[in-house]
Amino acid sequence: MSDFDVDLFVVGGGSGGVRAARIAAQHGARVMLAEEYRLGGTCVIRGCVPKKLLVYASRFRGEFEDAAGFGWTVPHASFDWATLIANKDREIARLEAAYHATLDKAGVTIVKSRAVLADAHTVQLANGDRVRAAYVLISTGGAPSYGDAIPGLEHAISSNEAFHLPELPRRVVIQGGGYIAVEFAGIFAGLGSHVTLVYRGENILRGFDDDVRHHLRVDMEKHGIQVITGCKISAIEHAGGHFSVQLSSGKLLTADRVMFAVGRQPNVAKLGLKEAGVEIAKNGGIAVDEYSRTNVQHIYAVGDVTNRINLTPVAIREGHAFADTVFGGKPTVVDHSSVPTAVFSDPEIGTVGLTEAQARARLAQTDVYKAMFKPLKATLSGRDTTVLLKLVVDGLTNRVVGCHVVGDGAAEMVQLAAIAVKMRATKADFDATMALHPTIAEELVTMRHKSASYARAAAE
Ligand SMILES: Cc1cc2nc3c(=O)[nH]c(=O)nc-3n(C[C@H](O)[C@H](O)[C@H](O)COP(=O)(O)OP(=O)(O)OC[C@H]3O[C@@H](n4cnc5c(N)ncnc54)[C@H](O)[C@@H]3O)c2cc1C
Repeated sequence: MSDFDVDLFVVGGGSGGVRAARIAAQHGARVMLAEEYRLGGTCVIRGCVPKKLLVYASRFRGEFEDAAGFGWTVPHASFDWATLIANKDREIARLEAAYHATLDKAGVTIVKSRAVLADAHTVQLANGDRVRAAYVLISTGGAPSYGDAIPGLEHAISSNEAFHLPELPRRVVIQGGGYIAVEFAGIFAGLGSHVTLVYRGENILRGFDDDVRHHLRVDMEKHGIQVITGCKISAIEHAGGHFSVQLSSGKLLTADRVMFAVGRQPNVAKLGLKEAGVEIAKNGGIAVDEYSRTNVQHIYAVGDVTNRINLTPVAIREGHAFADTVFGGKPTVVDHSSVPTAVFSDPEIGTVGLTEAQARARLAQTDVYKAMFKPLKATLSGRDTTVLLKLVVDGLTNRVVGCHVVGDGAAEMVQLAAIAVKMRATKADFDATMALHPTIAEELVTMRHKSASYARAAAE
């Protein structure tokens, strides 16, 4: 490896790249990492972390409202967007510095620059410097996409800008039905904006369990979010301090901000992939094998740029596995099955494993267990809300193959339920577990009766 300037060059300092760089350096590799924006990547700078902070902020409204039923008088609560954003930015800067320190300590050389491949072993930096690397890891993540061009699209913001708005918009129109769209709908609504969600499909959260999708939509609407499906924004016009938003249905909306959250695309453009001979997969990401290796022997790619499962813990695992495989003498394949995931909407969703529809398509027999009820807290608060817990079970083996929860604490519940699902626990194992009372989660171990399928229930 001594013919090279470094053993490993990592392009992109997000979740996957930072983990890979640190572990490779700890295995003894000479590592250089280039980051063109801010160390920490999407998750830390403009994704999971700032989003969750905004979600926390948005939930206080409900808490203040609910307090009255428990005897509290909360004097008029007011909210200051500028304080929230400044505090959030301070925390993000602290995390960014922590990432820097961790890489420094591991001996990784950090370059604050865009990096592109000049050829299969040469990385070119923005100042023209060239670095010869034995191995290259591409971990450039993804970026918001805006879909088809429409008149006035330049007025729309993405999640990137939503974290830095100078003020809280009074009226927001969000186009999209994925997790980022519904999360921001909940954030803005909780903070006091009037929110309209516009989605071209039949229902929000495509790919999630149908009961979950239905439950969330009903609850979002109860909380005052207007959900318009089956149409899309066809034009945006700036009209005297606000925006006129034309929908394909002919309806006209007025907004102070228009946000597009219609998907993300892997950052593969202008990276020098062609020069290096790296192939793109059908999904638009870099094509890799189970070791995250591209078609070029010494070039690997991890995280969102491969467009496999675009979540932070997945990118981290892939980065770690790459470093162990190439520099740790321990070939490691990441298991992409039963990955738990959450949607920090209002109410929150936690999910792991197969949806009911997926199970019915794949298994000879599927059993479904469902509980939907008003949570204890809502009895005194008077809040009009219900929680949903659902287990999808392989009818032949009794194995729990899916667990879906909508309600307070759903994400925390499902992180733990995911261990059982991953361990191939059966419904009998769930039933043998003593309930922890009084909780919402106890329903996961006390559901005794099979439910009608979603399709049948919906038809009735
Ligand atoms: C709004 C939002 C909310 C999210 N919430 C969650 C969540 O709750 N839970 C969850 O698990 N995931 C969440 N995600 C997804 C998560 O952020 C990503 O899956 C994760 O960050 C992917 O890590 P990565 O290392 O692949 O890429 P990234 O973290 O995107 O890092 C890529 C880095 O590469 C840099 N870069 C790109 N090109 C170059 C170049 N040529 N040279 C140098 N640097 C370059 C970029 O600036 C970036 O810093 C969210 C994403 C968004 C947008």
